Amino acid sequence: MSELKGKAIEPIHEHRANVLYQHGTLALLVPGLLEGTTTMGELLTHGDTGIGTGEGLDGEIIVLDGKAWKVGRTGVVEAVPDDLTLPFANIHRAAFQYQCERSDIGLEELNRRIVEANGRANTFFSVIVRGTFSFIKTRAVIKQQAPYPTLEEVADRQAIFLGHDVRGVMLGYFSPVMFHGAAVAGFHEHFLADDHSIGGHVLDAVLERGEILSQVFDTLVTHLPVDNPDYRNHDFSQDNIGEAITHAEGDTHR
Ligand SMILES: [Zn+2]
Repeated sequence: MSELKGKAIEPIHEHRANVLYQHGTLALLVPGLLEGTTTMGELLTHGDTGIGTGEGLDGEIIVLDGKAWKVGRTGVVEAVPDDLTLPFANIHRAAFQYQCERSDIGLEELNRRIVEANGRANTFFSVIVRGTFSFIKTRAVIKQQAPYPTLEEVADRQAIFLGHDVRGVMLGYFSPVMFHGAAVAGFHEHFLADDHSIGGHVLDAVLERGEILSQVFDTLVTHLPVDNPDYRNHDFSQDNIGEAITHAEGDTHR
């Protein structure tokens, strides 16, 4: 088992590949502000690679090579139309740099070593892991209808999917702990099998063999739904944001 090399991954400024674009904040999902406030088409003007969820927490979205895919409660992978609206998404222009190859490693250990190798615990970065996963466990939240429940109430309304010996891509974003609330501190990872047999928000995985690529950002652009009445009028001081996000998103081994 080869060690992760401490190869320095630096931000690339060409084509704005140093910029992570985020629509919304995870904090607005906590009290149930789940209305779609941007469109997939608009997001794709800011990048070709990303993750997100549709209005009402409609499925787990992954964007790869400029194409958006969604996994909902049935587990079927569907193409996302440009007019799908989203309350939250991360997107960027892919300029990943090869980091290393890894084999026979679980998700927690893999994530820990990626942060160590990058030496980037206080920086936003994206990771792509391409290869064969001997085990993958994903979830898709079930779409909610207005009036929307809180994120904590929704946490149990999800479908779980299991895969074995699956070739695919795991795309993740790492957010520094000081941004917990705006994002999930640590990794937020979505998966898509090459044959589209499984996808979703990654809960657990074992990488049999694969390559790891990273892209570091020095700039975070946060686009907020400033004209959405529910967002404008909501009093966030009453929400226990950090704790609710940890409960709903932070623990990848539930
Ligand atoms: Zn997710």
